[in-house]
Amino acid sequence: MASRSCPVCNTPSSSARLFLSESIDRSKLSGFSFASRKTPEFMRHRLVQCTHCDLVYADEPPAAEELAHAYHAAEYDSAEEADDAAAAYVRAIGPLLQKVRGRASALEIGTGTGVFLEHLGRAGFARLVGVEPSPAAIAAAPAHRRDWIRQAMFDKSDFAPASFDLVCCFMTMEHVRDPLAVARSARELVRPGGAFVTVTHDWRGLVNRVLGSRSPIIDIEHLQLFSPESLRHLFANAGFEGFDARPFANRYALRYWTRLAPLPLGMKRAVSSGLEATGLARRKLSVNVGNTIAYGIRGD
Ligand SMILES: [Zn+2]
Repeated sequence: MASRSCPVCNTPSSSARLFLSESIDRSKLSGFSFASRKTPEFMRHRLVQCTHCDLVYADEPPAAEELAHAYHAAEYDSAEEADDAAAAYVRAIGPLLQKVRGRASALEIGTGTGVFLEHLGRAGFARLVGVEPSPAAIAAAPAHRRDWIRQAMFDKSDFAPASFDLVCCFMTMEHVRDPLAVARSARELVRPGGAFVTVTHDWRGLVNRVLGSRSPIIDIEHLQLFSPESLRHLFANAGFEGFDARPFANRYALRYWTRLAPLPLGMKRAVSSGLEATGLARRKLSVNVGNTIAYGIRGD
């Protein structure tokens, strides 16, 4: 493990303040620790808070090769939640799509089953491209979407510069070793007038502040956690203009909210079986859990 500076503004970690100390049970680490939308495990790297840009980040993250291996092996079990999440992103991205100049092509980094690309296709985007490191996620995609998805870690050299009108990266910026490199790559890949849009957790969001170290966002797979302020720095440092960030609500089945809830395991099981028995488990509920949609436009 090598120590790193702030991955958004490069301020040395020596001037950051401690946010949470490390908590890792190596015997519990599994492929499932790196799957999206799983049951929280409350494991984490040591996290520090950058005093310059407000980013919370692991100053001693695992090596890039180790991460690539973990995501390659990650299991995938969250098709219904992935569909619910995509529907929330579609509602949140609506106002931005009015500002994007073209509709020729869109790229999604960390596309999972490609469900959001499906929505972008309906919104008029002609060429749809997704990048996803987990073969299990791609295997869970319907056959017609698999042609859109490249199974790989994101690498900008796989694509022509200025070849997309929209580049999306949802619930993935927390997972990458170098989020500023991803944002800069996105700026190179979008055409002038095109946009880069992210969905991230907000560590300053009310629910996350109240839950503290019991929040589902405090997780071994999150190498950094953003706030609106750190997102502003990220997009500015990557060279984007017209930055905006706003919170939005997620809508999931009660079954899934229960899985995320910071309850003791026994109580969680009791609540879950009560919900399943009464049929309430499938009922959908919208909650603002501090997720943020942010975007920047590439100037001419
Ligand atoms: Zn910083």
